[in-house]
Amino acid sequence: KDAKAGPLTREEVGRATWMLLHTIAAQFPDEPTRQQKRDAKELMAIISRLYPCKECAGHFKEVLKANPVQAGSQAEFSQWLCYVHNVVNRSLGKPIFPCQRVNARWGEMEMKMKRLPLLVLLVSA
Ligand code: FAD
Repeated sequence: KDAKAGPLTREEVGRATWMLLHTIAAQFPDEPTRQQKRDAKELMAIISRLYPCKECAGHFKEVLKANPVQAGSQAEFSQWLCYVHNVVNRSLGKPIFPCQRVNARWGEMEMKMKRLPLLVLLVSA
Protein backbone atom coordinates (compact mmCIF):
# COMPACT_ATOMS: atom_id res chain seq x y z
CA LYS A 1 0.00 0.00 0.00
CA ASP A 2 2.83 2.43 0.93
CA ALA A 3 4.46 1.98 -2.48
CA LYS A 4 1.47 3.63 -4.14
CA ALA A 5 0.49 6.04 -1.42
CA GLY A 6 -2.64 8.04 -2.13
CA PRO A 7 -5.92 9.08 -0.58
CA LEU A 8 -7.44 6.48 1.73
CA THR A 9 -10.62 4.62 0.86
CA ARG A 10 -13.76 4.99 2.99
CA GLU A 11 -13.02 1.53 4.44
CA GLU A 12 -9.43 2.40 5.37
CA VAL A 13 -10.43 5.67 7.09
CA GLY A 14 -13.19 3.81 8.93
CA ARG A 15 -10.89 1.01 10.11
CA ALA A 16 -8.20 3.49 11.25
CA THR A 17 -10.78 5.61 13.09
CA TRP A 18 -12.36 2.66 14.92
CA MET A 19 -8.86 1.43 15.86
CA LEU A 20 -8.01 4.80 17.40
CA LEU A 21 -11.37 5.13 19.17
CA HIS A 22 -11.38 1.59 20.64
CA THR A 23 -7.76 2.02 21.78
CA ILE A 24 -8.64 5.33 23.46
CA ALA A 25 -11.60 3.64 25.17
CA ALA A 26 -9.40 0.71 26.28
CA GLN A 27 -6.98 3.15 27.92
CA PHE A 28 -9.70 5.42 29.36
CA PRO A 29 -9.38 5.81 33.17
CA ASP A 30 -11.56 3.70 35.49
CA GLU A 31 -12.34 6.89 37.36
CA PRO A 32 -12.21 9.74 34.81
CA THR A 33 -12.15 13.37 35.86
CA ARG A 34 -14.95 15.67 34.75
CA GLN A 35 -12.58 17.01 32.06
CA GLN A 36 -11.87 13.50 30.74
CA LYS A 37 -15.60 12.71 30.57
CA ARG A 38 -16.15 15.98 28.73
CA ASP A 39 -13.26 15.20 26.35
CA ALA A 40 -14.76 11.79 25.46
CA LYS A 41 -18.12 13.41 24.65
CA GLU A 42 -16.49 16.22 22.66
CA LEU A 43 -14.29 13.81 20.71
CA MET A 44 -17.34 11.88 19.54
CA ALA A 45 -19.26 15.08 18.75
CA ILE A 46 -16.33 16.43 16.73
CA ILE A 47 -16.03 13.17 14.81
CA SER A 48 -19.73 13.36 13.97
CA ARG A 49 -19.10 16.82 12.49
CA LEU A 50 -15.65 16.56 10.88
CA TYR A 51 -15.55 12.89 9.83
CA PRO A 52 -14.11 12.79 6.27
CA CYS A 53 -17.15 11.08 4.71
CA LYS A 54 -20.16 13.38 4.78
CA GLU A 55 -22.71 10.57 4.56
CA CYS A 56 -21.04 8.63 7.40
CA ALA A 57 -20.81 11.77 9.57
CA GLY A 58 -24.51 12.51 9.07
CA HIS A 59 -25.44 8.95 9.89
CA PHE A 60 -23.21 8.92 12.96
CA LYS A 61 -24.79 12.15 14.25
CA GLU A 62 -28.13 10.32 14.34
CA VAL A 63 -26.53 7.34 16.08
CA LEU A 64 -25.13 9.68 18.77
CA LYS A 65 -28.47 11.41 19.22
CA ALA A 66 -30.17 8.07 19.86
CA ASN A 67 -27.26 6.80 22.03
CA PRO A 68 -25.68 9.65 24.04
CA VAL A 69 -22.03 9.08 24.99
CA GLN A 70 -21.55 7.18 28.26
CA ALA A 71 -18.09 7.81 29.66
CA GLY A 72 -18.46 7.40 33.43
CA SER A 73 -15.66 4.78 33.51
CA GLN A 74 -13.37 2.75 31.24
CA ALA A 75 -15.86 -0.13 31.19
CA GLU A 76 -18.79 2.14 30.44
CA PHE A 77 -17.04 4.04 27.63
CA SER A 78 -15.66 0.94 25.91
CA GLN A 79 -19.04 -0.86 26.13
CA TRP A 80 -20.86 2.19 24.80
CA LEU A 81 -18.38 2.49 21.90
CA CYS A 82 -18.75 -1.21 21.11
CA TYR A 83 -22.52 -0.78 21.07
CA VAL A 84 -22.50 2.20 18.68
CA HIS A 85 -19.91 0.51 16.43
CA ASN A 86 -22.36 -2.42 16.27
CA VAL A 87 -25.16 -0.01 15.29
CA VAL A 88 -22.95 1.07 12.34
CA ASN A 89 -22.02 -2.58 11.61
CA ARG A 90 -25.70 -3.53 11.47
CA SER A 91 -26.54 -0.70 9.08
CA LEU A 92 -23.73 -1.87 6.77
CA GLY A 93 -24.65 -5.56 6.99
CA LYS A 94 -21.41 -6.38 8.87
CA PRO A 95 -21.15 -8.98 11.67
CA ILE A 96 -22.05 -7.89 15.22
CA PHE A 97 -19.00 -7.86 17.52
CA PRO A 98 -19.45 -9.58 20.94
CA CYS A 99 -18.94 -6.67 23.37
CA GLN A 100 -17.81 -8.90 26.25
CA ARG A 101 -14.65 -9.44 24.17
CA VAL A 102 -13.91 -5.75 23.70
CA ASN A 103 -11.08 -5.55 26.26
CA ALA A 104 -9.45 -8.74 24.95
CA ARG A 105 -9.46 -7.20 21.44
CA TRP A 106 -8.50 -3.63 22.24
CA GLY A 107 -6.92 -3.67 25.73
CA GLU A 108 -3.96 -5.67 24.50
CA MET A 109 -1.46 -2.82 24.27
CA GLU A 110 -1.67 -2.22 28.02
CA MET A 111 -1.75 -5.94 28.84
CA LYS A 112 1.41 -6.61 26.80
CA MET A 113 3.20 -3.82 28.61
CA LYS A 114 2.09 -5.17 31.99
CA ARG A 115 3.27 -8.67 31.11
CA LEU A 116 6.68 -7.57 29.89
CA PRO A 117 8.45 -7.46 33.29
CA LEU A 118 7.17 -10.98 34.06
CA LEU A 119 8.51 -12.20 30.71
CA VAL A 120 11.92 -10.62 31.44
CA LEU A 121 11.97 -12.33 34.85
CA LEU A 122 11.10 -15.73 33.33
CA VAL A 123 13.70 -15.42 30.56
CA SER A 124 16.47 -14.35 32.93
CA ALA A 125 15.64 -17.03 35.53
P1 FAD B 1 -14.45 -1.97 10.99
O1 FAD B 1 -15.92 -1.79 11.18
O2 FAD B 1 -13.66 -0.79 10.53
O3 FAD B 1 -13.85 -2.49 12.37
C1 FAD B 1 -12.44 -2.65 12.56
C2 FAD B 1 -12.22 -3.80 13.53
O4 FAD B 1 -12.87 -3.50 14.76
C3 FAD B 1 -12.86 -5.11 13.11
O5 FAD B 1 -12.00 -5.84 12.29
C4 FAD B 1 -13.13 -5.83 14.42
O6 FAD B 1 -11.98 -6.51 14.86
C5 FAD B 1 -13.37 -4.69 15.38
N1 FAD B 1 -14.79 -4.45 15.66
C6 FAD B 1 -15.85 -4.59 14.83
N2 FAD B 1 -16.98 -4.24 15.46
C7 FAD B 1 -16.62 -3.88 16.71
C8 FAD B 1 -17.35 -3.42 17.85
N3 FAD B 1 -18.67 -3.26 17.83
N4 FAD B 1 -16.66 -3.15 18.99
C9 FAD B 1 -15.33 -3.31 19.04
N5 FAD B 1 -14.58 -3.73 18.01
C10 FAD B 1 -15.23 -4.02 16.86
N6 FAD B 1 -18.96 3.27 6.30
C11 FAD B 1 -19.99 3.38 5.42
O7 FAD B 1 -19.93 2.81 4.34
N7 FAD B 1 -21.12 4.10 5.76
C12 FAD B 1 -21.25 4.75 6.95
O8 FAD B 1 -22.26 5.42 7.22
C13 FAD B 1 -20.15 4.68 7.87
N8 FAD B 1 -20.17 5.35 9.05
C14 FAD B 1 -19.08 5.34 9.85
C15 FAD B 1 -19.08 6.09 11.03
C16 FAD B 1 -17.96 6.12 11.85
C17 FAD B 1 -17.96 6.97 13.10
C18 FAD B 1 -16.81 5.38 11.50
C19 FAD B 1 -15.59 5.43 12.40
C20 FAD B 1 -16.80 4.63 10.35
C21 FAD B 1 -17.92 4.58 9.51
N9 FAD B 1 -17.93 3.83 8.33
C22 FAD B 1 -19.00 3.91 7.49
C23 FAD B 1 -16.82 2.90 8.04
C24 FAD B 1 -17.17 1.46 8.51
O9 FAD B 1 -17.69 1.48 9.84
C25 FAD B 1 -15.95 0.53 8.53
O10 FAD B 1 -14.91 1.11 9.28
C26 FAD B 1 -15.39 0.16 7.14
O11 FAD B 1 -16.45 -0.32 6.33
C27 FAD B 1 -14.30 -0.92 7.26
O12 FAD B 1 -14.88 -2.04 7.89
P2 FAD B 1 -14.08 -3.29 8.46
O13 FAD B 1 -14.86 -4.50 8.03
O14 FAD B 1 -12.63 -3.22 8.11
O15 FAD B 1 -14.22 -3.22 10.05
